[in-house]
Amino acid sequence: MDADLTRPSDAKKATSNPGQTGTHRFGLSTLEDVTNIILQSEDLLETLQNIVNRVSDRMQSEVCSVYLVEGDRISLKASKGLAASSVGTTSLAIGEGLIGHTAEIGDVVNLRDPECHPKFRFVSGSTEERLHSFLGIPLYDRTNLLGVMAIQTVTARKFSETEVSTLRTIAFQLSSVIANARLLDSIHEQSSLIPNASQIGPGEENPGFLTGSSVGTGVCAAPAFLYQKAMRKKEGETTAVYSDLDEREKLQTAIEQAKIDTLCLQRLVSDQLSDKEGEIFQAHLMILQDRHFLEKLEEKIAAGSSANHAVRTVIADYRAAFERIRDPYLRARSVDIKDVGKRIQFALTGVVSDSPIIEEPSIVVASDLLPSQLAILPFDKIRGFVLESENSNGHTAILAKSMGLPTLFDVTNATRLIQHGDDLILDANSRRVYLRPDPQIMDEYTRVISEQESSEENLHALNHLPATTRDNQSITLRANVGLFSDLQSAKKFKAEGIGLYRTEFPFMVRSEFPDREEQYSLYRRVLETFPDHPVTFRTLDIGGDKTLPYFSNPEEENPFLGWRSIRVSLDHPEIFQTQIEAILMAAPAGNAKLMFPMIISVEEFNQCLAIVENAKRRLDNQGIEYADLPIGVMIETPATVAIAKYLGENADFFSIGTNDLVQYMVGADRGNSRVSEQYQPLHPGVLGAIQTMVEVASATHCSLSMCGEMVNDFRILAMLTGMGVKEFSVSAPLIPSLKMDLRD
Ligand code: PEP
Ligand code: MG
Repeated sequence: MDADLTRPSDAKKATSNPGQTGTHRFGLSTLEDVTNIILQSEDLLETLQNIVNRVSDRMQSEVCSVYLVEGDRISLKASKGLAASSVGTTSLAIGEGLIGHTAEIGDVVNLRDPECHPKFRFVSGSTEERLHSFLGIPLYDRTNLLGVMAIQTVTARKFSETEVSTLRTIAFQLSSVIANARLLDSIHEQSSLIPNASQIGPGEENPGFLTGSSVGTGVCAAPAFLYQKAMRKKEGETTAVYSDLDEREKLQTAIEQAKIDTLCLQRLVSDQLSDKEGEIFQAHLMILQDRHFLEKLEEKIAAGSSANHAVRTVIADYRAAFERIRDPYLRARSVDIKDVGKRIQFALTGVVSDSPIIEEPSIVVASDLLPSQLAILPFDKIRGFVLESENSNGHTAILAKSMGLPTLFDVTNATRLIQHGDDLILDANSRRVYLRPDPQIMDEYTRVISEQESSEENLHALNHLPATTRDNQSITLRANVGLFSDLQSAKKFKAEGIGLYRTEFPFMVRSEFPDREEQYSLYRRVLETFPDHPVTFRTLDIGGDKTLPYFSNPEEENPFLGWRSIRVSLDHPEIFQTQIEAILMAAPAGNAKLMFPMIISVEEFNQCLAIVENAKRRLDNQGIEYADLPIGVMIETPATVAIAKYLGENADFFSIGTNDLVQYMVGADRGNSRVSEQYQPLHPGVLGAIQTMVEVASATHCSLSMCGEMVNDFRILAMLTGMGVKEFSVSAPLIPSLKMDLRD
């Protein structure tokens, strides 16, 4: 056989144990035990050993073993029944013996009299001749084979279907434990190899300038404000909720709280989605129980850190280690570490989201900024952004652009090379940020910045003129708005209304769902800001890169292809209908329109219309005033273009969301700068879809506008106008220059 067999000393005891004979009993109790073992163990080998002990007892099998794949071999890692000396030393080629055979075919092997099987390999000196049954179950992490669990008994028998199915479930649980433990192992390896981020100090050679990919245009000069550093400092100052405890006790209490929160999240996600999604939190629990992780935290505290600081730095080290892992799947799991860190910090500080204090005009430098983090920054103090992350078409970028601020993404090592307070010049036109520039560069840019300011003034002079082409066609230029500050700039740049009001942004800057009254006053205020022009409210579009800190979004492999936007709203009619009621209630204050994002079918649109009708009925019953309003559909997927003529039967207008339409048409993630070459708004396929929409809108008597960020250049605006699109909603700071070029 595949390994040495010891005398099965406790076989008799197991057989004579009453109450353990039924396979049903075996199934339930063993699964419960295994779950407990998994929850309580912190070390993979210990977990495996505990599981094989328990399974072999409950199965009344003389042998239960687990083998794990290592390169092109499979090695014995834990066994009940095989000699202890063979654990860690027995290794087989894939395809060799019955274990190697199970691994090779990747399926269950269930044999009575295994010695008759052609793959059976007899190892001389072993006592395997005593074993007359074999059950091999492969262990998988998704499609990757992790190993094999094997059961062997002295009695010749074939395992029943119930036994096989229970063991498959155990194998499934075991697989996720193994995958997560490997993940932790690779973190440990990585984190011991690399220097701690906090050890890389200032004083490295100034590279002169750094480059990135730019969003928006323009130049600015200001000192650097290191966002993550400031957040760390700020959180260090936060009054801890356990203020009467010392740092070590605070940490322990927060970790216990984080475990409870994680279990609640797991339950919530399992109930709302599926156990598979809930399993993500199993990995989080393992991290929270991981001995190395806890030791690192304690070491930091022993060295004088606060609990908060310890969590920050250890999480940062782990994340840095993750970024270095080659395997893209493992690398992407760094979000798990980030999430665990956040949960401990929330438990420590009792805050859900917070913003650093920025008192002076600054260029914000950060490794990454989530849209929800950016949304709560003090905009009047920010001159530009320098970010290490790559998300140049995502919502962080959209917000930065609508603030009219020069922004660079994808700036490698920015947070390491730039120190808090360093003088910076950020030139989004040439995609460079200059660090501590010398006087000549500074002088040159002072001149450029003053020219920029005077040309902005010239553009403002155009504000009162209409957007009319030289051949006298009227074009409507509205603004895309997410935050109140966007509203101010939409006013300032004389937008002819709001073509896209992203309602999710006000949701992002809160710590809980705003209720109907709160939403109503918000929407009313927006309408009152534009009393003479239309304001199009788009219902919640969360998911993708927009998450709410208080709403549990599942970790998904492809969030932009996942549970986002209208899918979330339709799955939560209570949230959705409340929002629609608030919009209907605000509608009498102005010229409101309502549109739904990411619709892909007539059924979805009809469901939305039914919810609008329910909302009206409810308001009627409550005697609350509201106004009817035009209802439209966003065109954001190729499928929506294809069925637009049917949607047009019940819609009043279409609004093309090119940010998503482009990504779904060309199959290139809007937030991934590695595929920015493939993200082609001018792809003939995209232009064909827009042309189709012009025709469908005319045939169905729906009005048509475009609210994606595709129009960031006059030439594109001119081309689309020529194709028949006459209404656009753009980032407000672009309006004056588009208008000037249009009129020229
Ligand atoms: C779009 O997809 O073009 C759009 C306007 O929606 P968002 O950018 O908010 O996804
Ligand atoms: Mg969109």
